Amino acid sequence: MNNSKSGKNIHKKRNPPWYKDGLKFECQRCGNCCRGEPGTIWINKKEIKDTSALLGISKNQFAERHIRIINGRISLLEHGNGNCIMYDNGCRIYETRPLQCKTFPFWKSNLRNTAEWKEQGKTCPGIGKGELHTVEEIENRLGPELSNL
Ligand code: SF4
Repeated sequence: MNNSKSGKNIHKKRNPPWYKDGLKFECQRCGNCCRGEPGTIWINKKEIKDTSALLGISKNQFAERHIRIINGRISLLEHGNGNCIMYDNGCRIYETRPLQCKTFPFWKSNLRNTAEWKEQGKTCPGIGKGELHTVEEIENRLGPELSNL
């Protein structure tokens, strides 16, 4: 049986992205992306549950100490200098860190074009080093919740 609509190609064709041959990245654990300029570090309820367990505190204690609400979304707090509250000479919650942190630097904002990627490479020394990530792998890391990053 042929399910295709007569005469029409139902598959949209898309130009390959500029990073079609993949991108090299390997975290150097320098902490640059955890420190400095103020920002938001989105965290979801599942991540809060897992991170509370990792820290050995209740979800309520975690909420009281470590989060703030911004436009209805939950963000980790930062210290006055902009450092993430979970940063202490390294990430204290690396195993359960938020998706935003796990997917860095493969954010849409950094992947718009090669110039943005190179610009990010000025502060992230992992860009251009180590493992080559394929385009499929990169795009699988981009969840819809990251569309504003
Ligand atoms: S700035 Fe880059 S290399 Fe440094 S900790 Fe963040 S992801 Fe890793």
